[in-house]
This record gives sequence, structure tokens and C-alpha cells, in this order.
Amino acid sequence: MALKGDNVVVSNMKLERIFSMKGGKGETSYANNSQAQARHARSMLHLLEETLDGVQLNSPEVPFVVVDLGCSSGNNTIYVVNVIIKHMTKRYEALGQEPPEFSAFFSDLPSNDFNTLFQLLPPLANYGGGSMEECLAADNHRSYFVAGVPGSFYQRLFPAKSIDVFHSAFSLHWLSQVPESVLDKRSTAYNKGRVFIHGASESTANAYKKQFQTDLAVFLRSRSQEMKRGGSMFLVCLGRTSVDPTDHGGAGLLFGTHFQDAWDDLVQEGLISAEKRDNFNIPVYAPSLQDFKEVVEADGSFVVNKLQVFKGGSPLVVNQPDDAAEVGRALANSCRSVSGVLVDAHIGDKLSEELFSRVERRGTSHAKVLLEQLQFFHIVASLSLA
Ligand code: SAH
Repeated sequence: MALKGDNVVVSNMKLERIFSMKGGKGETSYANNSQAQARHARSMLHLLEETLDGVQLNSPEVPFVVVDLGCSSGNNTIYVVNVIIKHMTKRYEALGQEPPEFSAFFSDLPSNDFNTLFQLLPPLANYGGGSMEECLAADNHRSYFVAGVPGSFYQRLFPAKSIDVFHSAFSLHWLSQVPESVLDKRSTAYNKGRVFIHGASESTANAYKKQFQTDLAVFLRSRSQEMKRGGSMFLVCLGRTSVDPTDHGGAGLLFGTHFQDAWDDLVQEGLISAEKRDNFNIPVYAPSLQDFKEVVEADGSFVVNKLQVFKGGSPLVVNQPDDAAEVGRALANSCRSVSGVLVDAHIGDKLSEELFSRVERRGTSHAKVLLEQLQFFHIVASLSLA
């Protein structure tokens, strides 16, 4: 990619053209650093299944279509798609009906590592040969057709009225862009000295909030056109419990403390200019329940079956909590697996390495506090067409 230069300002490029989680299967890849998300998703399965119980069953001749938006590359998306299809199959069977054929679309931005994802997919069971029961019994096979769909979910991705179930986990807190005013020196929203909304000025926070709400409105409008009547949507994204957006809770701790300090280290050590740091901002907004609700209500295309804040837990998965070095490494790796691509594009691979080694060092010396205090909350929404 020609984007890894020292003089590139990420904000001036279309985020959707470069952004992705770290691909591959290496130490700092998303595939290798998403066990926490897997754990959080599993703790919400009952809510997903409640949503699926509300989905209308079609005639078995019509394929049943499931979409995972913001699928990334790793096992989480495959796991959840499998859960959805198994659950729907059981519903058909409980009514004594033959289940339809299933298709699943894995969707993410074009830079996503779809190759790694496709390689992780189990082979297709012998569709048409064995019975559906046989297919489902063979756990290491899949009983659905797949396709990858590259594109931003802040636009139309599918034909009208073609999707039964939309699922999206841990993705909607990613904004379509850093708000322009946050990067504009002349604006009161200019986020001087900071790389995230946590601890920023009210004006910066308002710009972030507005971007989130505009993006979510576009998302809802697009999905409302694509969903079949009787379909449902299950959304999980980072959320916060404070009404004040400058207190971003767990996400604040992840991107607003040691990560922030590591940027400041690079400035103080003369490795980058202060302006270079100020031009970098993490395009994440963890909404409060109210922030989210306002958009759903104003848009009006969906009715809310469920909307709640759910305690997720820590994003750090460590084998030995007493091992401070392991905690520091887990912090740096999990931070890097989600923001590393943006950091690389902004300061280049070498300085990015320097940055995350400082995150690791700082995390190691605050290991105990991190384990106690780094907790995520999520907004969980189950929506159907109004
Ligand atoms: N759902 C997966 C991965 C979550 S990581 C899991 O549960 O583990 C968040 C994903 O959202 C990333 O892969 C990122 O590329 C994707 N994403 C962020 N903004 C997006 C956008 N505008 N359109 C589509 N995908 C987006």
C-alpha cells in the first residue's frame, strides 16, 4: 500500500479506503486478539436468540439471508453466523417445516483481510446430498452459502428487501471519519494535544457525537431499505454509562490514557511534532443509550424490541493476571490490533512500533489498575421494521 508515509494525514484520506483491523494470524492480528469480543458476544447470545425468535419465517423455497456487518477476519463472525443459522433451522424444524437454504454475507470495508476469513471457513457440507440434519450434525462443515461484500455500512450494500437478519458486533462505534472540525486548527472543536475524545473539550465531544449520530442515521436508513419485512437486526457496539461524552469509560481508558501518553512520549522525545500527534484522532464514539435512542427515534424506520446497556467485561485476555508484562503486552496488542492500521498510515511502521512499545511499557507498570478498571460496556439493540 502506498499509504504508509510519514507525511500522510489519515484524516484527509477516505477512512473507508484504508481502514481495517490488523489482518493475518500474527501476534498483533485481530484474529489473534479478539478472544475478549468472542467472550462478550457469547454472554449476549440469549439476547441474539430472542431477536431471532421474532424473525418471520419465509416459505422454504426462498433462501434465508443472513448478513454480518463489520465481520473483520477471525473466528468470531463464523461462530455467530453459525449460531444464527442453527437457531433458525431449529425454528423451522419445531414447526415441522423443511428449512430453506441459507446464505450468509460477510461484509466489511475493502481493506479487510477477507482472504484469512475465507480460509477459516469450514467447507460446505454436501448440500443437496445429505439431509439438513446430517449437514448440521457435521460440526466442522457449514450448511450455508457464503459471499464477501466489501463496502462501508454507512451506505447501501444490498438490494432492496433482500435480507432476513442483519447482525453487527463491535463495529458501529467506528465512525465514518474523524469529524473535520476536530482536525481544524481554527475550530473550537480542534482536539489539541489529544488523540481521542476522552478528556477532550465539550466542543470536540459535540463534534464526535454529531458524527456518530449522522453516521448511525445513514446506517439505519440503508438497512431499512435492504431488510425484508418481518426481518430483524441485532446490533452491538461499544457504549458508555456516563451521560458526558468526554468520559468515555473503558474505551477512554484504552485510547485516552496509556495510548495517549505514548503519543506524548513520541512528541517529548522529538520523534514526531506536536502537530503530527494532534492530527491523529481515533474515529471511535461509544454512545450512551440516549445518544443511540435519539437516532433510532428520529429516523423512525425501526421499532425497538430491545435497547440496553450491557456490561461486557475486560478487553484484556491474559493467562497470568499476576504477570505485569503479560498484561502490558495484552494492552498493546489489543490496542494495536484495532488501531494499528491507522497509526501505521499516520506515522509509518517504524514509529508505530515505537509507539506501541511505549503503550506496552506503560501498561506493564499499571497492570493491576488496568485489570481492575478496564471494563467495556456495550449498547445492545434489537430492531425490526416499523
Ligand atoms: N464483528 C467482529 C469484528 C469487530 S471489529 C467481531 O465480533 O469480532 C470491527 C470491524 O468493523 C472491523 O473489521 C472494521 O473494519 C469494521 N468497520 C468499521 N467501520 C466500518 C464501516 N464503515 N463499514 C464496514 N465495516 C466497518
